[in-house]
Amino acid sequence: MKNLVLFGPPGAGKGTQAAFLKETYNLVHISTGDVFRYNIKNETKLGVLAKSFMDKGELVPDQVTIDMLNAEVGKNLDSNGFIFDGFPRNTLQADALEVLLQSHETEVSAMIALEVDDNVLVQRLLKRGETSGRPDDANEVVVRNRIKIYYGETAVLKSYYSDKNKYYGVDGVGSVEDITVRLNAVINTL
Ligand code: AMP
Repeated sequence: MKNLVLFGPPGAGKGTQAAFLKETYNLVHISTGDVFRYNIKNETKLGVLAKSFMDKGELVPDQVTIDMLNAEVGKNLDSNGFIFDGFPRNTLQADALEVLLQSHETEVSAMIALEVDDNVLVQRLLKRGETSGRPDDANEVVVRNRIKIYYGETAVLKSYYSDKNKYYGVDGVGSVEDITVRLNAVINTL
């Protein structure tokens, strides 16, 4: 199995690139944000809980998120591997992912991070907010809070995966096609 953690601040283009990588490498794409949004739309218990955190740009509690991810992986065990998008977001989640994948006799192959300057991110997110209908994209304070949380809590994952020689940084500024080429170059070496 090829298991990729696609990493990067909100607005870095993870969702866009995951759609291409999923096709090229025949992987299952799990975006924890998308799964939460699906649950919110369908007004499930999980959705109602997640919404109260997401609307403020805060993280949904770890155990709730980990249980949800375990269930999503469990549905796709016959796949070639996974693209984890938006997960893990802290070391506790990273440890949980390791345990989960080990239980299926596999592991994270690489964390690939899209690197994009903050001001570019804010502009991209606010622009996306004009059409996405996402409350957490519409407000600059919330957008900046999500980026701050990313750097404050989740950038520690860079050292987590670097220590395992699994961290790959990719320049996330440029055309969608150029960035896809850069990502493919990394993945083809794994
Ligand atoms: P995203 O679509 O990845 O930008 O995520 C949108 C929101 O969903 C985040 O701001 C969090 O509230 C929630 N979320 C997504 N993934 C996670 C995660 N791994 N842990 C906790 N909360 C998450």
